[in-house]
This record gives sequence, C-alpha cells and structure tokens, in this order.
Amino acid sequence: MKAAYENDNIFAKILRGDIPCHKVYEDDDAIAFMDVMPQSEGHVLVVPKAASRNLLDADPGILATIAPLLQKLAIAAKSAFGADGISLMQFNEGAGGQTVFHLHFHIIPRYDGVPLQAHGRGMEDPDVLSANAEKLRAALAA
Ligand code: AMP
Repeated sequence: MKAAYENDNIFAKILRGDIPCHKVYEDDDAIAFMDVMPQSEGHVLVVPKAASRNLLDADPGILATIAPLLQKLAIAAKSAFGADGISLMQFNEGAGGQTVFHLHFHIIPRYDGVPLQAHGRGMEDPDVLSANAEKLRAALAA
C-alpha cells in the first residue's frame, strides 16, 4: 500500500511555524533553512510548501517551480562558503535513506579532499547555524 503524507512530520511543523528554524529564504512555494545536522559546512535544505512525502508523490508542477530555486541556492552556497563544488541530494522512503517524510532537497557545499560527514551525525552549534544562514542570505542578496 502507498504510504500517506503525515501532517506531524518535523518539516510540516516548521512550515506551520510551530517550531523554529535557521531560515535562509522563503517565498509562496518553498522555504530554505539550515540543516541542524550538517554533513558539511553550509548544508541547507530546500522544502516545497505543498504537502508530499517525497519525489514519488509530488505534483510535477511543484518540481518545476523548485528547480530554479535549487540552482539559485546552489550558486549562493558555493559563493557564501567558498566551496569547490555542490552536492544536491534527495532521498525517497526509508529504504532510499529518507528520515523526514516531507519532500526536501539537500544542498551540500563540497570542499576538495573533504569527505562528507555522516547523515544525522549530531547537532551543530546554533550560533554556527545562525551565522551560516546569515552568510547564505547575504550571498542570495548579492
Ligand atoms: P532525509 O529525510 O534523510 O533526507 O534528511 C532529513 C534531514 O533533516 C537530515 O539531514 C536532518 O539532519 C535534517 N533535520 C532534521 N530535523 C531538522 C530540523 N528541525 N531542522 C533542520 N534540519 C533538520
């Protein structure tokens, strides 16, 4: 049976404003905020506002809206953190590595010779997340 979207996932709570995040960007369709357990310096998440579990049940129109935003944030993140490259990641269902069941995309700055840290390895210092969100907002505005 196809899994259903559940309204109590942590990103739905962030979208409702029930819990805080280190916000980088928001428009009518999406929000972007820092990942609290970054796999590399500057790891940011892009979350469409429309409810879907992941790529498999998403409205294709939403995907079309999100793609330009992914590019914009990837360019800003590369510049903000002096990265050498960007990994764009997206996981679907538990078997695919997904842990939060509201569609989201990972934009992960990459640095030559630096391996990715483990997924969900531990919480980053909130001051670091806050400073990185500010750097990204500045790069977006530049
Ligand atoms: P995944 O569902 O595996 O694609 O990844 C979910 C991501 O959400 C992980 O990288 C977590 O570190 C991140 N995460 C979980 N809770 C929060 C939160 N409250 N704020 C920001 N990021 C979160």
